[in-house]
Amino acid sequence: MPRIGAHVSIAGGLERAFARGEELSCETIQIFTKNQLQWRSAPISQGRAERFLRAWGESSIADVIVHSSYLINLAATDATGEKSIAALEDEVERCDILGIEDLVLHPGSSKGNPADQSLDLMSERLKTVLERTAHTRVNILLETMSGQGNHLGSDFGQLRRIFENLDWEPRMGICLDTCHMFASGLDFRTEPTYRRLLGHIDSSVGLDRVRCWHFNDSAHPLGRKLDRHAHIGEGELGTTPFSLILTDPLWEDVPCILETPLEGAGHGRDIAILRKLRGR
Ligand SMILES: [Zn+2]
Ligand SMILES: [Zn+2]
Repeated sequence: MPRIGAHVSIAGGLERAFARGEELSCETIQIFTKNQLQWRSAPISQGRAERFLRAWGESSIADVIVHSSYLINLAATDATGEKSIAALEDEVERCDILGIEDLVLHPGSSKGNPADQSLDLMSERLKTVLERTAHTRVNILLETMSGQGNHLGSDFGQLRRIFENLDWEPRMGICLDTCHMFASGLDFRTEPTYRRLLGHIDSSVGLDRVRCWHFNDSAHPLGRKLDRHAHIGEGELGTTPFSLILTDPLWEDVPCILETPLEGAGHGRDIAILRKLRGR
């Protein structure tokens, strides 16, 4: 069955994430391995990695996903571009030392340049990072975006172009964010529209590339390209899409990560709702 979890904080130490996840009765968690708003961070020492792996081994959490820094923009044509290559390489190495296999990445912003040109530049840089980290088993999962501003990755044709540029590199995958897809104009609030979405994903990048879901309701209506997460059932998506996903055998082994607001009832209530929708 799909595993239910949430993004949790690493405040006080990376290994603290497991206790936070268990407190919420998560089966899976997502973390940042560093401050997501800073370029630089101390390397992960062998001791820190061992503490993390020990805590993981003793916890009931099955898998850990890492979300990379928000600063990374592989499509940037200024100095940020080169910095982003080094930062992404570092993110992959940090995952590797922690024994984590899936790293989520925002495809970046074109900053107004032609989209295809930005996608090709991004692909070239992704290739560099994949080559430099070929000794690892870390996958890079491109997250589907809302289409807000110049952000790339809100349409599966764009993601397909990146995959094609990279010759369908097996270490490349997709993270589907429910709020972002809905904001970008993809509807999946009923069984037929959900099936249509799956067909669309399958024909563009292949359903087997989907390695993670981000579960967020959307505060804004369909297609507004506005990215604001809401608690499950309290936004425009409602509970049906989550119930369709959680009861679909297709996602048997796929982590579903909440990134809903920490205000209000927090993740605890969302997890209880999702568990009910899954039926166990
Ligand atoms: Zn994200
Ligand atoms: Zn997300």
